[in-house]
Amino acid sequence: MSNLTIVNALIVPMTEERKAFNGSLRVVDGLITEVAAGAPREKAPGEHVISAAGCVLMPGLINAHTHLYQVLLRAVWEDLELMPWLRRIYGCARVLRPEHFYAGSLLGCIEAIRSGITTVCEHNFLNPHPECAFETIRALRDSGLRAVFARTIMDTGEIVPDCTKETPEIAFRCIEELVAAHQNQSELTFMTGPNTPPINTTVDLLKEIRGFADSKGIGISAHVAESKSVVDCVRQQHDKSGVIEFLQQFAIPGQNSIFAHSVHVSKDEIAILQQTGTSVSHNPVSNMMLGDGVAPVVEMLRQGVNVALGTDGAASNHSQDLFDTMKAASLLQKVHHQDASVIDPYSVLRMATVGGAKALGLSSLCGTIEIGKRADLILVNVDTIHNQPINDIFSQLVHCAKASDVQTVIVNGEVLMRDRQLTRHDERKALADSRLAHGDLMERLATLSF
Ligand SMILES: [Zn+2]
Repeated sequence: MSNLTIVNALIVPMTEERKAFNGSLRVVDGLITEVAAGAPREKAPGEHVISAAGCVLMPGLINAHTHLYQVLLRAVWEDLELMPWLRRIYGCARVLRPEHFYAGSLLGCIEAIRSGITTVCEHNFLNPHPECAFETIRALRDSGLRAVFARTIMDTGEIVPDCTKETPEIAFRCIEELVAAHQNQSELTFMTGPNTPPINTTVDLLKEIRGFADSKGIGISAHVAESKSVVDCVRQQHDKSGVIEFLQQFAIPGQNSIFAHSVHVSKDEIAILQQTGTSVSHNPVSNMMLGDGVAPVVEMLRQGVNVALGTDGAASNHSQDLFDTMKAASLLQKVHHQDASVIDPYSVLRMATVGGAKALGLSSLCGTIEIGKRADLILVNVDTIHNQPINDIFSQLVHCAKASDVQTVIVNGEVLMRDRQLTRHDERKALADSRLAHGDLMERLATLSF
């Protein structure tokens, strides 16, 4: 791991409200060791220097909720609401092979890198074969990204194929094997969780999962109250008014829990999130694509709930682009409340950085630019037609900047992309491999009826 210094950058450290300054930053053995305003100090022997003139240097973006392999399923099932769409997504388990997960996930990781993402939380839930999870993790490891692998469980559900339903006992054993096989890998941590309670999880599983997660020292990731249909299910079958209220009796909310979506939640449920320290992954593009509704993000932020941002899988977002998602998050709240002042751009940037790190238990490692944190950094070129002139860098990072403006991506001190050139990956090979995997998957899908 080489030492490097980044000079002449406009640094947006995300450590305090609307702070930005021109300066330099030094990385030694993957760690940020100096952040200074003004002109750079002299170069140390053997040090690699990156000139960042015209660029913003900021923490890498954190995608708090996705399903990477779904890049193979972009625009396959369109104009469907959640339940019929999920029937098809779950149905894929009948034909998905480990090689689809590797090729799709690697392509998704490369898209993430090229979009300025340095950490992804892969919420895994289709496991017709144990190798599917291993191959996804192999792609994450090969990518160089920091990753959280949330290996979740489904043990019931009319729309869940038998091949991917598991008893809690078998699922827990699989997760133990996964964790044991990836010990001491500093850029990879694990979570578990009920996938989409209550539509694909039994009460028996919900009773056991908090104890299992705590015994392994891992967090919980779940799809929560994504659409009205999920809330209808909890009302009809469990006599609870909402999904979060239902989950509370099993102690599933908690400081190491992240609830994706949380669209249809009441004020009382927002209070539960706040009191338990539960984080939310807001996935506005996916929510809009599936017609789910608008998550009460403003209310959550006002109540002190930690909110992160996620793309969700490409089957309901079409991309893995968090710049796109930041802009959508901002505009959706403004139009929903019919109040342009209801959310400010710095809050949106916080969700995509600091909020994501906190939600995934990574605050001590990443999410801000500070001495002592790992060097998970991006350079965003703002010296471009659509970014100039700069009047408000925070607003412009959310509303003007594009994923393609990301010049350089660094994870744990390793440069994964420099001047838009990938360092670890042959992009053409990854594209060719994903086309093969896609062709095979489409042939297999054509044999299914939904
Ligand atoms: Zn999801």
